[in-house]
Amino acid sequence: MTIDLHTHSRVSDGTTSPRELVHAAAAAGLDVVALTDHDTTGGWAEAEQAAVETGIGLVRGIEISTRYRGAGVHLLAYLPDASDPARQAELARIVAGRQDRVPAMLGRLQELGIAATEEALAEVSGGNEVTGRPHIADLLVHLGVVATRDEAFAQYLSDGGPAFVDRYAADLVEMIGLVHAARGVTVVAHPWGRGSEHVLDESGFVALKQAGLDGIEVDHLDHDPCARARLREIAQRLDLVVTGASDHHGAGKVGHDLGCETTAPHELARIADLAASLGSPTTIVGRRREGSLR
Ligand SMILES: [Zn+2]
Ligand SMILES: [Zn+2]
Repeated sequence: MTIDLHTHSRVSDGTTSPRELVHAAAAAGLDVVALTDHDTTGGWAEAEQAAVETGIGLVRGIEISTRYRGAGVHLLAYLPDASDPARQAELARIVAGRQDRVPAMLGRLQELGIAATEEALAEVSGGNEVTGRPHIADLLVHLGVVATRDEAFAQYLSDGGPAFVDRYAADLVEMIGLVHAARGVTVVAHPWGRGSEHVLDESGFVALKQAGLDGIEVDHLDHDPCARARLREIAQRLDLVVTGASDHHGAGKVGHDLGCETTAPHELARIADLAASLGSPTTIVGRRREGSLR
C-alpha cells in the first residue's frame, strides 16, 4: 500500500490541476494521496471527484503557513471536518483570515493618525469579501489622505512603506489549537528542511507535543538520513505520528515525484483514528478497500 501525504496542485503553487494530480497519483500506483495546497481548501472538491473516478484514496489536507520563534514553519492539517457550511466557514477562517494582513495594515495607518477603520474599508470595497492593498489605497483616496491609488502605494503601502505589513502567518502553537477545533490532525511539515534545525529543536517538539501536535513529517527529501533518524527517534519518544511524503509540486519542483517518499499504512490509520477522536466525520474519500490500512 503506497501512501503519499503531501502534494500541491496549481490551486497553490503546483503545476497540475487537482484532478490531474489525483489521476497522476493513480497512474503512479499510489493507493492514497493527500492534497495539501498552501493555505487553501480550494482544490478539495475537484480532487474528491477525481478520487472517486480513479478509486484511489484522497486525504483532504492543507499546508498552513505559521510562525514559530520568529521563523516560518509549515503545518499540515489532515481530515478537518468540512461536512457542513458552518464547518467550511471555520476552515475558511483558518486559511484566509489568519493570512489576512489587511487588519494589520489598517492598524499601522491608525497609528499614523489616519482613520482607516475596517468599517470604512468595507464601505469603500463595496463589501468585497477579499480585500487587499488596492482597497486600502482606495480608502486612503476616499479619506483624502492621498489623491490617487499610486500615491497611496508610493507613500504608504508599497514594500517597506510605513503601513506595509508582510504576509501575516499565524503562530504555530495557536494554529495547532485552531486545527484541532476544526477537528483536523496536525503534522509539522519538513521541520528540519533547508537548515532550519535550529528553529524546532528537541525542546521545541516537546513544547509542541504539549500544545497538542500529532505528528512529524520525517521522510521528506529535504531531510538527510541523519536528520530522519533523529526525528524518528523524537517522534517515537513523544508518541507522535511519523509521516513521509513527496511534497510534489508537479513540474514546479524537480525530483519530488509522486510517491518518492511514503507514509506507512499504520501511521495513516493513526491519523484517521485521531481525526475520528476529534469528532471529524471526514473520512478518506474514494478508497475502494475500506479498512485496509492496518
Ligand atoms: Zn512546505
Ligand atoms: Zn509542501
